[in-house]
Amino acid sequence: MGQDGFRAEEIDTSRPHPARIYDYLLGGKDNYEVDQRAGDALAAAAPEVRIGLRANREFLRRAVRYVVGSGVRQILDIGTGLPTSPNVHEIAHEVAPDVRVAYVDNDPIVSAHADALLSGSGANSIVLADLRDPRAIVDHPDVRRVIDFDEPVAVLLVAIVHFLTDADEPERIVATLRDALPAGSFLVLSHATGDFADRTDAQAVYSKATASLNLRSRAGIERFFEGFELVDPGLAQAPFWRPDSPPPARSEEIGFYGGVARKA
Ligand code: SAH
Repeated sequence: MGQDGFRAEEIDTSRPHPARIYDYLLGGKDNYEVDQRAGDALAAAAPEVRIGLRANREFLRRAVRYVVGSGVRQILDIGTGLPTSPNVHEIAHEVAPDVRVAYVDNDPIVSAHADALLSGSGANSIVLADLRDPRAIVDHPDVRRVIDFDEPVAVLLVAIVHFLTDADEPERIVATLRDALPAGSFLVLSHATGDFADRTDAQAVYSKATASLNLRSRAGIERFFEGFELVDPGLAQAPFWRPDSPPPARSEEIGFYGGVARKA
C-alpha cells in the first residue's frame, strides 16, 4: 500500500488510460509513455485537441461558478481526472468557501492524488467508483458523508459520458442520478462530438485504451438532459457556453458540447 492507501500495482502502465492521456494533453506530469504516445496520436488525428481540452476545462470552470452562484453548496464530480489547477473545489471556493465536493473516478491513479484534491478544506471526499453503477455512487458512505441528497446538488459529468458505450445505457445511468436529486439540483455535462470535424481517427486511438471514445451528435447528447431544464444558451459548443473571454483560436472545430440544466 502507498501512503494514500492504494496499491502501486493497481496502476496499469501497459495500456493508455483516459485520465492520464487527458493529463498529458493538458501539460500535466502524471502520465506514462503509453499515455504520451496515445496523446500524440490524438493530437495528430485532431490537431486542435489541446485547445479543445482546455476549452472543456474552461467550460467546467464557468459552469461551476454558475451553479455555485445559483446557490448550490454540494458538488458530486464524477470523472474527476487528475488534479489540474484549479480543481473543482478551488473554483467553487472562490465563489463560496462552504461548498462541499465529492470526487468520484474509476481510475485508482486519481485517488492516489487525493492530497491535492482534498487540499484546503476538510469537507471533500474522493471515492473510487464507476459511473456504470450509479446507485453505488449515490449510496457510497464517503459520498453520503459529504453530500446530503435532501439539499440541491450539482452533478458534474464533464468529459466522461463519451467513455460509456450505448450498451452501458448512459441515458439510464444519468436518469438514475437525476432521480436521486432533489428539485433545484443541477446537471453539468460535457461530451465529445464529431459534429464539427471528422473524428474517426481520434476514436481509433481510444480503441487501444482502457475506455473507448463514443462520439455523439447534438441530439444524442441532449437526451441526457431529460427531466432537467437546460439553462441559457442550452447545449453549446464548449467555448460558446456563457463565455467570459474571447473564444480561443479554432473554436469552431472544437469537438465538445457543454450544457448546464436544472431539475425543476
Ligand atoms: N472531468 C474532468 C476530467 C475528464 S477526463 C475534466 O473535464 O476536466 C475523464 C475522467 O473520467 C478520467 O479521469 C477517467 O478515469 C474517468 N472515467 C472514465 N470512465 C469512467 C467510469 N466509467 N467511471 C468513473 N470514472 C470514469
